[in-house]
Amino acid sequence: MSRKNHRSAWQRRALYSLYDGFCKLAPMLRPVVDSLGMRRSGRLLAKVEGCVKGSLFECQMCGECLLSSTAMVCPMNCGKRLRNGPCGGVSADGNCEINPEMACVWLDIAAGARQMTEPPAVNQVNPPLDHSKQGAATWLRIIKKSAEPPPEAVADHAAPGARAPGSFELACLSGNFVVTAEISPPDSADPHDLLQRADHLRGLVDALNVTDNAGANCHMSSAAASALLAADGHTPVFQAACRDRNRIALQADLMGAAALGVRNMLCLTGDGVGSGDHPQAKPVFDLDSVSLLGMVKGMRDQGRYASGRKLTAPPALFLGATANPFVPSFEQRVLNLEQKVMAGAQFIQTQFCFDLTLMERFMEEVRARGLEKRCHILVGVGPLPSARTAKWLNSSVPGVNVPPAVIRRLEQAHDHKGEGVRICIETINALKEMAGIRGIHLMGHKNEALLAEIIAATGLADRPTAGDFSSLAVGD
Ligand code: SF4
Repeated sequence: MSRKNHRSAWQRRALYSLYDGFCKLAPMLRPVVDSLGMRRSGRLLAKVEGCVKGSLFECQMCGECLLSSTAMVCPMNCGKRLRNGPCGGVSADGNCEINPEMACVWLDIAAGARQMTEPPAVNQVNPPLDHSKQGAATWLRIIKKSAEPPPEAVADHAAPGARAPGSFELACLSGNFVVTAEISPPDSADPHDLLQRADHLRGLVDALNVTDNAGANCHMSSAAASALLAADGHTPVFQAACRDRNRIALQADLMGAAALGVRNMLCLTGDGVGSGDHPQAKPVFDLDSVSLLGMVKGMRDQGRYASGRKLTAPPALFLGATANPFVPSFEQRVLNLEQKVMAGAQFIQTQFCFDLTLMERFMEEVRARGLEKRCHILVGVGPLPSARTAKWLNSSVPGVNVPPAVIRRLEQAHDHKGEGVRICIETINALKEMAGIRGIHLMGHKNEALLAEIIAATGLADRPTAGDFSSLAVGD
């Protein structure tokens, strides 16, 4: 895919002035539209709009144009068609996770916004796309001056019920250092393996984050695995990625998970299908993580599906999202976090942290914006077994960035695995001292026993965990 990005500042301003001028003058065409009728005008305008905006902006005619708030860059050229970006898979050189030949569209939008005389708010939360409008003329709306209804304001905090005694949310609110761990569902219809691995972490973590076809590789569903863990006395976080399901399937799954006792949900956009074991699959990306958060928050707080239809009993969910402070652009990363908090994220789990300098730089900006007071930030950590794995993570897992200094340290060590554990423990100890960090999120693929050893080695095994908190012990 080719794309005209990195326009100069004057080109962007000129295009914006042209577009803005057209929008102001367009209502003068109202009598023509009235005489032709809505249908014929719509068809005619769609053709003209498609030609003009297609040649100027590589417009994809989504029917809900965002150009004036995206620095005149069409976001529909994003590899995942995100309405709220960038995703966490941007490569270190700023190129797209899905189309590595192309610069990330959302970084182009951010760069463009900085060049505008009156920069648009690139951290605004855009509602999900209405796919039924694909190909329709947005100019018709401009001519008729009928504004889109603004996205509904959402209440700023959790629904009753999510803070039940022993919940992950209460652990976060307790002020104690929180520990969560990732657990991957099995490639088996027998839950035994999952429950056995989870047992290594019983009483050591505040929640188990159950991955959702991580890396686009197929496993038992996160909703089912979360329900199995909840029934076995664990506190699962149901991970839901937008890559594999549209908004109907996502809502159905979360209602099912909530009915089976799951009280925490992590909203993700998801990696592209190209990185997994089914590259021939159709990527869905009907929503992005920000619009998924907004949708689930609406279900929880307003008791309605995205369609507006009423729920008999809304799900009580503690809502989370991810952040990646380790990929460009670093300014955009904090804005993206803010966007997720505005959309409803109450806790954040970051990508693997191997670079404390970048983490501190990110946190400085987070603290400057007061975001650490609006969400609980848990930093992703994990042991690297070898320099080879570190290099593989850099080249094959979107959004992971292991710095050269860490790779050198692993290469020079006699005991690679032991060195990886030492690096992980040092990172955790440093994070414990970093202002604004509420806890850690441990990741180590099917290595739960080692994660338990790391928790013990960092002195975190004796702290009270989620199950120890009663609602009476913690204030709001
Ligand atoms: S890196 Fe992510 S946000 Fe950027 S264009 Fe590619 S898919 Fe979209």
